[in-house]
Amino acid sequence: MRILVAEDEMKMARAIRRGLENDGHVVETVDNGDDALFWASEQRFDAVVLDVMLPGQDGFAVCRGLRAARIWTPVLMLTARSAVEDRIAGLDAGADDYLVKPFALGELLARLRALLRRGPTERAPHIAVGDIVIDPAAHTVSRRGVPIDLSPREFALLEYLARHPGEVLRRGDILDNVWAYDYEGMSNVVDVYVGYLRKKIEHPFDSSVIKAVRGVGYALEVDQ
Ligand code: CA
Repeated sequence: MRILVAEDEMKMARAIRRGLENDGHVVETVDNGDDALFWASEQRFDAVVLDVMLPGQDGFAVCRGLRAARIWTPVLMLTARSAVEDRIAGLDAGADDYLVKPFALGELLARLRALLRRGPTERAPHIAVGDIVIDPAAHTVSRRGVPIDLSPREFALLEYLARHPGEVLRRGDILDNVWAYDYEGMSNVVDVYVGYLRKKIEHPFDSSVIKAVRGVGYALEVDQ
């Protein structure tokens, strides 16, 4: 099998490569997130071993990028911490399994064999904007791996913004798409709901993502 290993620590990368080659695999290595996303998108691999902490895009972003491009190559994520948030973030980003460093090489090989047997698993695509991940099928939202509880209307508003990342959406268009009926005389309903969303997706994380454009509407910012 052909395996891409994205790991910037040379010693670790060499050890993984040796282990995989001894197991009969062909291994390509990259040492940063941008190359990982590029090669995993351009060429066919049977699996990707993806370190979370990488220069450039981190492992979560690489994984989200692959899934957004509907590339379902199995991804085994290597996380430095066993924090539950990290594991959830990895799985939210579309990883198939994760392994906490330090790990025994034998365990990595065993996990990888299981993934290779299973093959690519296609999923309903998540919408990822920055560190916010939306699952339209399951109606769930998380930010930095932390689940966020939204009302159906708040969810619809966030999903609409997220389907047009970085685009300034007019209040009227938001009303038409999220409320779908005439809200004449209550044009501030969009602003009210943006306020509700901010309380849930911005304030707890001390990071704003919804940009207000005076006299026009709102945009969900792509980079945070
Ligand atoms: Ca690293």
